[in-house]
Amino acid sequence: MDCIFCKIAAGEIPSNVVYEDEEILCFHDLEPQAPVHVLIIPKKHFESLSSVSESPEDKELLGHLMSKVGVIAELLELENGYRLVNNCGVDGYQTVMHLHFHLLGGRRMTWPPG
Ligand code: AMP
Ligand code: ZN
Repeated sequence: MDCIFCKIAAGEIPSNVVYEDEEILCFHDLEPQAPVHVLIIPKKHFESLSSVSESPEDKELLGHLMSKVGVIAELLELENGYRLVNNCGVDGYQTVMHLHFHLLGGRRMTWPPG
């Protein structure tokens, strides 16, 4: 499949890895929007959050990913907090069609987002 994040997950395209296990990968974003900006992806390809099903496998995988957010934030020394973002679909301004969560930190965020 011609998916850049599948290729990153397979090690075919290099990335600056922060955390990796059998199911997920976390790597630095190429165009950081904050002092710390990493992406957390499931290695399995989902086009977006809307492609995640209610199957036990998908629930386990997404639960696993979410359980690692705090672990990754600690690795990145985001003790003052952070923002976790998922852009989904056209209106969500998703540009890479492989499910990913942005973890941003190292500065005070503002609200509302653009
Ligand atoms: P989104 O707009 O939510 O789909 O976010 C896609 C993100 O992927 C953007 O922040 C890009 O900077 C980032 N990105 C695209 N290609 C790469 C890459 N090869 N390595 C790291 N980050 C990437
Ligand atoms: Zn993919």
